Parts: sequence; C-alpha cells; structure tokens
Amino acid sequence: MSQVINEILNQAPSRRMIWVVSLVAALVILSTAILLPVSTRSLPVVEAFLPMYAMAVILVEGMTAYFLAIQYCFTARPFMAALSGAYGFVVVMVVFQILVFPGVFTTAGLLNLGPQGAPWLWVIWHAGFPFFVLLALSFYAGRSAPLAREGASRRARALGTVLMFGPPAIGLLAILGVMIWGSALPVLIKGDSYSNIVDSFPTPVVLLLSLLALVGALVVTRLRDLLGLWLALALLAALGDVALTLFAEARYSVGWYAARVMSLASSSMVLGFLIWEISGLYRQLLDSHRRLEDRVTYDGLTQAYNRGYFTDHLRMAVVQSGQEGASLSLLMIDADNFKGYNDHQGHQKGDHCLVAIVGAIKKALRRAGDCVARYGGEEFVVVLPHANAQAAKMVADHIHHQIAQLEIPRYDGISSHVTVSIGIATFDGLSGPIDHEELIWRADAALYQAKHAGRNTSAVFDEGGSRPAP
Ligand code: GH3
Ligand code: MG
Ligand code: MG
Repeated sequence: MSQVINEILNQAPSRRMIWVVSLVAALVILSTAILLPVSTRSLPVVEAFLPMYAMAVILVEGMTAYFLAIQYCFTARPFMAALSGAYGFVVVMVVFQILVFPGVFTTAGLLNLGPQGAPWLWVIWHAGFPFFVLLALSFYAGRSAPLAREGASRRARALGTVLMFGPPAIGLLAILGVMIWGSALPVLIKGDSYSNIVDSFPTPVVLLLSLLALVGALVVTRLRDLLGLWLALALLAALGDVALTLFAEARYSVGWYAARVMSLASSSMVLGFLIWEISGLYRQLLDSHRRLEDRVTYDGLTQAYNRGYFTDHLRMAVVQSGQEGASLSLLMIDADNFKGYNDHQGHQKGDHCLVAIVGAIKKALRRAGDCVARYGGEEFVVVLPHANAQAAKMVADHIHHQIAQLEIPRYDGISSHVTVSIGIATFDGLSGPIDHEELIWRADAALYQAKHAGRNTSAVFDEGGSRPAP
C-alpha cells in the first residue's frame, strides 16, 4: 500500500502536465498584465459576490488542508503537515474576514472590529499564507524522502501536529490581536478606498513574501514532482491576486473583483491536483486489487484456477447440487509418467507440456459452468455441474481425444506421446448430502484405478473397487 502511495506522490510531471501548467501560468500572467492598468476602474457593487467568494475559498482551502493532512497521516512527511497548516490558516482568516466585512452580516461587520478590521485581516492572511508556505518548503524533502513505515516517532508526530495546527492557531491569535488593538493600527481604508495601504508598510511586506514563496517553491521543489509544480502555479496566481488587489486601491473595482477570481483560481489549483491524484490512487488501488485477486484465483503457470479457488468452488457446487437434486461430477486428471517426461525433456519443456494439457482440457469442455483447476504438480481437476457419470465419461473421452491431438512426443520409450489418466466421481444429488472432500477422494480413487488399468484411460469410481490408502 505504502508503495502505491509512494509511486503516486513521487510521480514526475508528464510532458502533458507541464504543458497544462505552463498554459495556465501564461494565462495568469497575461490576465494580470492586462487587468493591472484598468484595475482602479470601479464596477457596480454586487453584494452577493463577497460572501459567495468567501464560501468557495473556505470550502476549497478547507478541503485542500484536509487532503494534505491525510497525505501527512499516510506519509508522515512534515512538509505535508506544514502545507496543510498553511491552508488551514487561510480558512481561519477567510472565515473571520467575511464575519467582520462591513455589509455582509451587519452594516459595520460582526465582532466590532471597526472599518480597519477587514483590511488588516486581509494583510495578515496574505502575509501569513506565503510565510507558512515558506516554512513548509523548509521541510520539503522531495522525491527521495522515504515513507515512515512503522509510523513516525513521538517527536516527529509532535512536530507534525505543531506544523498542522500551529498556523491556524496563530491566525486566531492574530485576529484576537486585531480585536484588542485594532483601533491603534494604522488606517488602511477610508470608505471603499484603501489607497493608503499602497503607501504603507504592509504592501512591500505582502508583495515580498508572496514573491519569496513563489521563488522558494521554484528553487526548493525545482518542479520535479507534481505537488511542487501545482503549488508553484498556485503561488503565482496568489501573487497575481495580491498585485491586483493592491493596485486596485478600492473595493468593487476591476482589480478588486479580478483579484478575488484569481485568488479562487489559486485556491482551486492545489485542490484540483490533489483530487486528480486521488483518482490516480483509486485506479492504482483497483489495479493492485485485481492483480492480487488474480494471484489468489489462478495458477501462475497454467492460468487454470488454483487449488484454493477449486476447493471453494467445489464446496459450493456440492451444496448447490444437493439443493437442486442435480448431479455433479468431478474429474481428476493426472499426466502419465510425467516424472520420466521431465527427466528426458527437461523441466522447462515439462512446464510447456502442462500448459498445453490445460489448453486441451479447456477445449474439451463445452459448458460455461465447467471449471478446470490445477490441483497440484501435474494433476488437474474438472468440476462438471449437472453432469451424471455418463456425461462425465464423455467429457473424459473428449479430453483424451484433445490430449492425443496435441501429439506431444516423449522419446523415452514409455509411450510415443504424452497421455493422461482420468478418475471420475459423480454425486447424483439425490443420495443424501456428500462432503466435497469425499468427492475428491472418490475421484482420486478412480484415478488410481485408471492408472492400474494401464494409464491413458479413464475410470469411474466404483464403490466395490480397490481403494488406495487415504
Ligand atoms: P504417474 O503416471 O504414476 O502419475 O507417474 P508420474 O511420473 O507422473 O508421477 P509422479 O508423481 O512420480 O511424478 C510427478 C512428476 O510431475 C514429478 C515432477 O517432476 C513433475 N511435476 C510436478 N509439477 C511440475 C511442474 O510444475 N512442472 C514440471 N515441469 N514438472 C512438474
Ligand atoms: Mg503423473
Ligand atoms: Mg501425480
């Protein structure tokens, strides 16, 4: 399981993926460049826009934080915990920003933060997020990082917890700080205009941190893995969001609306990638499940059913035939003098011969419900539902015919071609319940009779006949 996860997490970006990301990056840069000169132009106030935007960001960033936390639980990589923390921080900031934003819940906004509350929360959010991403990048161990097999150590777990829950907790503390000292903070907004902010110290700090986070992601991840690639793209869009917001200078302007769209795009990028990654995980899981299922169902050499499958199948077939009062036959097929064949022709040819024998048996079977399995070594079994002794004998004859058609030469003087002996046992479905093991035992006894009769023949189980020692 951990290998599957490792394979997925360590995927190098495909050419197509690099194309998609480059295209989106070009779009982000181009739209920012086009919108910046007109960003101050004011647009109508759409009051529903901000709550809708906030809801979307909370959901998207919350899910991103959750999926990253899940990845941390599986991989024990502190980078995942720290990145989850950065997204968790954003969720806290957006929740409170929308609560205190004037005109959303109340005219002045909740929590009595005053008009400077929302812009200060925006500054803390947009300075904090790149800061926490930079912190996460300092734990980036890349594709070579091993997965913690027996779970992380106590210290590593404590570090993971701090990295994951620390940023949202710091966010809450910062909000508390704004609540307490808000009135002493510099004025960033007057009415809807926040042109003050552009000339004050938060602007270079926010811009620099956003730029540093982007450069940091590029330098540290070198875009070698998919998460690094999409994270860099999300940080580019976040930089576009910050630039557009700052240059817009007022709420409800072209730049202000565009920045929010850009911010949502930025949020969706990492989440989109994580969802894509989870789909891949499902696919891989299904593939390995199928491989595992094949391994417990089929024999590796002949691709006939294996013994485990046969035993379950026969057990159910016996019960069913008892319920229906229908007959059920079992053939036990054994290659004649196969040890001699192996000694003469070599083990490899012996293997090919066994594969050919299974092919011939399958050719001789006519009904969909008939099932051939490898019982062990050079012994095979065929379950024939709704077949009485006479029908089973006919199938055995067909098998002999098909094996003869193979004309596999022996060159050891025992016989000219490879042959098989077949023991037949039948349950008529009427003579009271029978144990599936008893049916196997009877087929084996009949096989013993066939061998005694000179091989290359079949024998139906005879109650009065001689029985081999169990
Ligand atoms: P009999 O007619 O009485 O069945 O004689 P036999 O030689 O077939 O019986 P025996 O049980 O003595 O030998 C079975 C041989 O089948 C021994 C082993 O080398 C061979 N065998 C079993 N499994 C495989 C396999 O997977 N590949 C190959 N090549 N040979 C196998
Ligand atoms: Mg044999
Ligand atoms: Mg044998």
